[in-house]
Amino acid sequence: MMSTLKLELEPFRFDGMSDERPMVIAGPCSAESEMQMVETAKQIAALGIKIFRAGIWKPRTRPNSFEGYGSKALPWLKSVKEETGMLIATEVANVKHVYESLKAGVDILWIGARTTANPFSVQEIADTLKGIDIPVMIKNPVNPDVELWIGAIERLNSAGIRRLAAIHRGFSTSEKSNYRNEPNWQIPIELKRRIPELPMITDPSHICGKRAGLLEISQKAMDLNFSGLIIETHINPDEAMSDAAQQLTPSALGELLHQLIIRNAEAENGSLATLEELRVDIDKNDDLIMDILEIRMKIAEQIGQYKKEHNISILQSKRWDSILQKRTEIGFRKGLSNEFIETVFKAIHEESINHQTKVMGVNKEHL
Ligand code: PEP
Ligand code: MN
Repeated sequence: MMSTLKLELEPFRFDGMSDERPMVIAGPCSAESEMQMVETAKQIAALGIKIFRAGIWKPRTRPNSFEGYGSKALPWLKSVKEETGMLIATEVANVKHVYESLKAGVDILWIGARTTANPFSVQEIADTLKGIDIPVMIKNPVNPDVELWIGAIERLNSAGIRRLAAIHRGFSTSEKSNYRNEPNWQIPIELKRRIPELPMITDPSHICGKRAGLLEISQKAMDLNFSGLIIETHINPDEAMSDAAQQLTPSALGELLHQLIIRNAEAENGSLATLEELRVDIDKNDDLIMDILEIRMKIAEQIGQYKKEHNISILQSKRWDSILQKRTEIGFRKGLSNEFIETVFKAIHEESINHQTKVMGVNKEHL
């Protein structure tokens, strides 16, 4: 298991902002006009939100869709700051974007998912930011690769950027999915394990791709004790020039935030005893699971010995299929999801094969 990383980080904090959770960032997918920006911002600021987002340069999959107004839209972002006092944030993907954003007084930069996937681009941005004290948020790469995400964070940190945050916006998949980008929660969880002091901000808008599900994803992020949410918000979402289906009106955003249940990060004293007891129980059960796994692998080794003596191949697909099927059925009755049972038993099966292989003294690649 990879150990935790020591980065030179400072709290992702801003003057005049308290530490409340969640830290909310809201604003349109794209800057479309000064009126759209300022009106949206005023309504968002009225909800008590302090950070405004808007895309100036939009990375789009196909060339003929709206790719943002570019530099021309930077003064609109400035107007938001002047009229509402909010901090302004935008996406940068290259050196030109960084220079122009800094010149326009942008307070927070973010690196988009497509850019994080490209170490050359991230390095170029990091080199440009050397010696500049500006907070940077790094979206997960489009592909589910935690190392690539960590690599981008390291590049920025090595350039001297200390106020860093990660944005979890989900991952591309070729599978049919209910989400625009699969949340793959285990990836941001792993990132938090590796860099515990790094704030994690979830972007339910790009995970869902539509308004349905935004609350559920936001709640899950809060249940995991993540630090913040970045939610696309537009005064007239249906008419938005990009990502129309997923944007909320400021009042719908207010409603969503109102419905969120924010749990305590740590147990309070009163409930501590019960929690401790439950944890002792969990530990006991985890020990039992370990004992049973040990026994199971010993049996697998005996089977390996038998197969060796009788010259039978290790992988018996039919048998494996029936194990999986039976366990999934039992799992269903026990309230365990198919995905969970499949993941657990695939891992057990693989470990079992490894034990048998060792006994038989053959190379696993030859199976
Ligand atoms: C965005 O935030 O509008 C955006 C383009 O996001 P992502 O990089 O996550 O696709
Ligand atoms: Mn968007």
